[in-house]
Amino acid sequence: MSSEKTIEKFNKHVMQSYGRYPLVMEKGSGRRCKDEDGKEYIDFGSGIGTNSLGYCDEKWADAVCAQVRTLQHNSNYYYTAIQAEFADKLCDISGYSRVFFGNSGAEANECAIKIARKYSFDKYGKGRHTIITLVNSFHGRTMATLSATGQDVFHNYFFPFLEGFVNVKAIDIADLKEKLDDTVCAVMLEYVQGEGGVNALDKEFVDAVYELCAAKDVLVIADEVQTGVGRTGKFLAGDWFGKKADVTTLAKGIAGGVPMGACLVNEKLGNVLTPGTHGSTFGGNPIACAGGLAVIERIESEGFLESVCEKAQYFRNRLEKCSEVGGVSGLGLMIGITLKTKKAADVAKASLDKGLLVLTAKDKVRLLPPLTIEHEEIDAGLDKLLEVLEE
Ligand SMILES: *Cc1c(COP(=O)(O)O)cnc(C)c1O
Repeated sequence: MSSEKTIEKFNKHVMQSYGRYPLVMEKGSGRRCKDEDGKEYIDFGSGIGTNSLGYCDEKWADAVCAQVRTLQHNSNYYYTAIQAEFADKLCDISGYSRVFFGNSGAEANECAIKIARKYSFDKYGKGRHTIITLVNSFHGRTMATLSATGQDVFHNYFFPFLEGFVNVKAIDIADLKEKLDDTVCAVMLEYVQGEGGVNALDKEFVDAVYELCAAKDVLVIADEVQTGVGRTGKFLAGDWFGKKADVTTLAKGIAGGVPMGACLVNEKLGNVLTPGTHGSTFGGNPIACAGGLAVIERIESEGFLESVCEKAQYFRNRLEKCSEVGGVSGLGLMIGITLKTKKAADVAKASLDKGLLVLTAKDKVRLLPPLTIEHEEIDAGLDKLLEVLEE
């Protein structure tokens, strides 16, 4: 089999930083992909929520390819029309004032952290640099975003981690009040903790964060790297909570599978970053912007987000009928499945054997299907998943 050769070659030179399944993805179309041995899979993972329009969506591919043939990159010393157009669209649909473009979720969060600290430094001077993050959060793999991540398993090997991050339990308002002292410049949260187990925050807790932060000119940073860009059935998950953070970070699905991260800020923070204080060689790359524009144009189309909500409900209804399912968490097409007896990793492996890609998050099975998934595909995939669960 050709996949064995590929895997051998791969493992010879690529660092072993992931636990991979022994299969080689070759191509995809719509919500299905094929491996090198010709086996087909229905995709309920979208490359961890990045292929928001599925595989190789025609309009998206046309937009990306046209940009590749026009201007693939230039330095941020010059302007490009495509970056202007994407920034304009993104700010318009999200309700933010300005954006900084990077290439990943971690970079978007790095930017948010720098903005929070500089805003506070500019206005209040040194010593007001602490950022409160939540227990069970996940903010990325760089040194700063690892330090921000509120899970001890990530705080190993790479000592020393960055100073100035403290954690609060996502339900403990009293603890939040106590830790919101005069050293704090921001609170950072995911409305639905993704890697932490697909858990939506409590509305009461979110309300308390906003209220307490507003009273002390402490910024709220919403890490919407996983929840943003239509994933939950609104453009931003914050819309479900009736909240607009000072800073919102996006990545994963933002450009339909081309690397991009974005850090959006409100009016008050629009001028915190000044020339020379932040940068990225690839940030706002024209190809990524073209992909991003195609994604937003689709999300804006009539009835698109309503259909995400409708499909999400459909998923939930079918899953909740299964006797092995202890509960379904998350929001929109960000779905966490609690299992009664089985192990999530075993379910993911058994699903793969049946031709279905799913993800896990802690002890849950996690689904992040492409936003464009159709009912026939949902049914075909759920038939496989429920077969595994009921075995
Ligand atoms: C995936 C993720 C990140 C990290 O994004 P990368 O693109 O892998 O750097 C950060 N925050 C959240 C909430 C995520 O889900």
